[in-house]
Amino acid sequence: MMKTWLRYCKHYLNSLLLLELFAGLRVTLKYLFKKKITVQFPEEKTPISPRFRGLLALRRYPNGEERCIACKLCEAVCPALAITIDSEQREDGSRRTTKYEIDMFKCINCGFCEESCPVDSIVVTPIQHYHMEQRGENIMTKEKLLAIGDLYEQQLAADRAEDAPYR
Ligand code: SF4
Ligand code: SF4
Repeated sequence: MMKTWLRYCKHYLNSLLLLELFAGLRVTLKYLFKKKITVQFPEEKTPISPRFRGLLALRRYPNGEERCIACKLCEAVCPALAITIDSEQREDGSRRTTKYEIDMFKCINCGFCEESCPVDSIVVTPIQHYHMEQRGENIMTKEKLLAIGDLYEQQLAADRAEDAPYR
């Protein structure tokens, strides 16, 4: 009974003297003169991890040859069944894809395809801002994926080199 009474007294005293308000204002004052950490997005960008899983891309070797050997491991491992591959054998005996498509509406950016690829062909990129305007643009064809890979090859190679010790 005594404890309850004391608790009520403390509560009313706190309210009367506005102690909680002053405690809050003290925190405000403390941060008023500190360096601001708010980022003015989209003009300012935050750093992105080399492991960031954005839009997908297909890479080539430095001589321009596409890396993909149509092993279909990425197609098999994709949990969203987003990848479709057709392949055929070339005249030189090597196997290459005739169709490589990713449905971006199905893709959940898990990165499993990159993990499974034995030749570092299919990769996730740091591209995070993209959109579709027309029906069908969600299907990333081989040509589109290779074009993204060509455009970002320098950064893709640098990101993989940075992450290599942890793989
Ligand atoms: S990132 Fe994941 S869901 Fe998307 S295509 Fe690759 S394996 Fe499939
Ligand atoms: S992208 Fe990689 S895992 Fe997928 S079919 Fe080509 S070589 Fe195989």
